[in-house]
This record gives sequence, C-alpha cells and structure tokens, in this order.
Amino acid sequence: MSDLRSLYQEIIIDHGRNPRNFRACEHATHIKEGHNPLCGDQVTVYVCKRDQKIEEITFQGKGCAISMASSSLMTEILKGKDIIEVEELFSHFHEMVTKGVQDNSTEKLGKLSVLSGVNEFPARVKCATLAWHALLAALQGSENKVTTE
Ligand code: ZN
Repeated sequence: MSDLRSLYQEIIIDHGRNPRNFRACEHATHIKEGHNPLCGDQVTVYVCKRDQKIEEITFQGKGCAISMASSSLMTEILKGKDIIEVEELFSHFHEMVTKGVQDNSTEKLGKLSVLSGVNEFPARVKCATLAWHALLAALQGSENKVTTE
C-alpha cells in the first residue's frame, strides 16, 4: 500500500506541475469559472459539447497541487465521454474523496484513483472537486458562453 501511495503521490505532483489540457478552448460551448476561497484555487473549465458528448475539455487556472492535478486528470478522463458517464464518474469520484475507496470504484475511476488519499484530509475535498463542480455548472448552464464567479 505504501508503494501504491508513493506512486499516487508522484502522479499528483506530475499533473500538478505539468497539467494536461491546460489552455483556453476558443470554440468551447460551455465555460465556467470555479473558485475555492478556502485554499485560493481558481479554475476555468472549457467544454466543447456536441451530441451530448464531451468532444473537448480544457482548463486554466492556478492553485494547489491537488486542485491542478484533479483538473488535469478530469480533462484527461472525460474527453469523449457522454453526459451520463460524466455524472456517474463524478458521483463515484465524490464518494471516493469524501468516504474513501468503495468496492469496485477504482476500476470505474481509473486514473482518478490517485486522489483517493484526499478523503483523509477533509479540507482538501474542495480542492479535488473544484473543477468538477465548475464543469457540472457549465453543463447545466446555457449553450452560450457563460462565465460566473
Ligand atoms: Zn487547493
């Protein structure tokens, strides 16, 4: 377990330092900014949604390693997923970061499992879920570009 933990740690540090899909997306259909005042994390999520599928997802922002790594991993895993899958993944992810790993959840969550240790640090849950909340708010918003605080 400690080997697994240090591997998870390395992946978080890697994504925190070199976040993937870290750019604005000019043809985004949905844009939303999220802010976590407890930690100072700021994330803007850009989504290009077509036929109920996430065709492209990118983000920009600044914050702690957890928030950056979580945003980065989220954009990697959600590309090509449909909206139902996104909501399902978020509910598993939210359960993992608040209650720890549940049966079979690592299989469903794939790479997102590296953030499973967050459940031991309740103050960091908001860091890990910030990008997800911004994404879901973006998807529930209008088709036009919207940006909110
Ligand atoms: Zn944070």
